[in-house]
Amino acid sequence: MSRPRIAVIGAGWAGLAASIELAPVGEVVVFEAGREAGGRARRVRDDSESLDNGQHILIGAYRECLRLMRCVGSDPERSLQRLPLSWYQADGLRMACPSLPAPWHLVLGLLRADGLSWGEKYHLARALGTLRRSGWQVAEDGTVSGWLRRERQPEALLERFWRPLVLSALNTPLEIASMRILATVLRDSLGGSRADSDLLLPRGDLSALFPDPACAWLREHGAELRFGHRVDSLETVEGGVRVEGERFDAAIVAVAPYHALALIGEEAMPAGVKDLSFWPIYTVYLRFARPVRLPRAMTGLAHGTVHWMFSRADGLFAAVISAPDAATLPSRTALVAAVVADARRVDPGLPEPLWSRVVVEKRATFAAVPGRIRPPARTGLPQVYLAGDWVDSPYPATLEGAVRSGVGAADALRQDWDS
Ligand SMILES: Cc1cc2nc3c(=O)[nH]c(=O)nc-3n(C[C@H](O)[C@H](O)[C@H](O)COP(=O)(O)OP(=O)(O)OC[C@H]3O[C@@H](n4cnc5c(N)ncnc54)[C@H](O)[C@@H]3O)c2cc1C
Repeated sequence: MSRPRIAVIGAGWAGLAASIELAPVGEVVVFEAGREAGGRARRVRDDSESLDNGQHILIGAYRECLRLMRCVGSDPERSLQRLPLSWYQADGLRMACPSLPAPWHLVLGLLRADGLSWGEKYHLARALGTLRRSGWQVAEDGTVSGWLRRERQPEALLERFWRPLVLSALNTPLEIASMRILATVLRDSLGGSRADSDLLLPRGDLSALFPDPACAWLREHGAELRFGHRVDSLETVEGGVRVEGERFDAAIVAVAPYHALALIGEEAMPAGVKDLSFWPIYTVYLRFARPVRLPRAMTGLAHGTVHWMFSRADGLFAAVISAPDAATLPSRTALVAAVVADARRVDPGLPEPLWSRVVVEKRATFAAVPGRIRPPARTGLPQVYLAGDWVDSPYPATLEGAVRSGVGAADALRQDWDS
């Protein structure tokens, strides 16, 4: 069987995953507009500092991410800090799950939780039990807030548990967030084994975690990586495609939906893709003369500007603000001051920061709303496939969704090539 020549457009986690799957069976050329791989989950250099474009969290259930990391020689046991599931808001709900088999880790964690009354614990356990019994599925997709109303969840529970959970898991406010997508996240994190629910925090930067070793592995396996190369033209021709005038047997378009639409046109895409909306994520990085003393590696605030704070192994402090209404956020200077004030609520003696940086990802994730169009890997064009966190998947915009979509596109391409 001949080896197909394949163009992969986009070297985010989806494009890298597709390339890794295809490099052993084809001649892979990766086109990436940026100077480095990693897309929305990568290192960004800032003078002397090496930051990420945003603090990321993985969970034990990210099987395909972990599998591909191992495949390219990145050892997740060393590169990720594994923590048992916990939820620690300094001024709100505090819950830690003990090392017991599922679901007992969750049951005991919930029973011992601080910040919820016994009545609220009962209501939360009942709602999670309902979901568990239905196989973590909802018959009809609707908003999370509609589902919570039907489950008679008390207002205090909405504010202390569900709202911050939905914001951090889906980066979408619960009034408009999809219950079906949330149920998938809960199934993976709470419905599997205890290890599935573990939180995995990168010890170093995001590029070192996967994109850098993936690129090295791809080169070793004969793939060609073209950075700083934005693809502007893709056309189908008899038995193949032309990418920037160069002939390939097939192409995987692993870019964000608005870039994919520009490349392959609306006709080849299901209606609705062009109407997708997005939410931003702000990450505020600070460096102090000493590490910030957080009570937990991942510490939240129920009533603050910041949603979650991380004191990173490299001495940096990262504060995440999910899906903010950009119109209500203060100027950058005022935002940094608000984040410092939030940090001092958990570490009162904290000095003034030596350095600060605000990283804004305006279109960090698609809005995980009910009835979203998730196109399949196969497009309306022969030999052209889609990958990306927004392509057919039950997940919100996550690293795992992106990697699975890349593996899925590679599978579809291989099947078509072999048939
Ligand atoms: C701040 C932030 C925080 C996040 N936190 C988490 C988290 O905690 N956990 C989690 O699981 N997920 C998180 N996510 C989501 C996760 O980062 C994304 O779902 C994932 O990185 C998307 O990968 P992708 O490959 O689908 O797309 P992208 O990363 O967008 O990759 C697309 C690539 O294509 C390139 N490209 C675009 N057009 C062209 C063109 N015409 N020619 C060539 N190249 C092109 C782009 O430069 C880019 O490198 C977060 C995202 C952000 C932004």
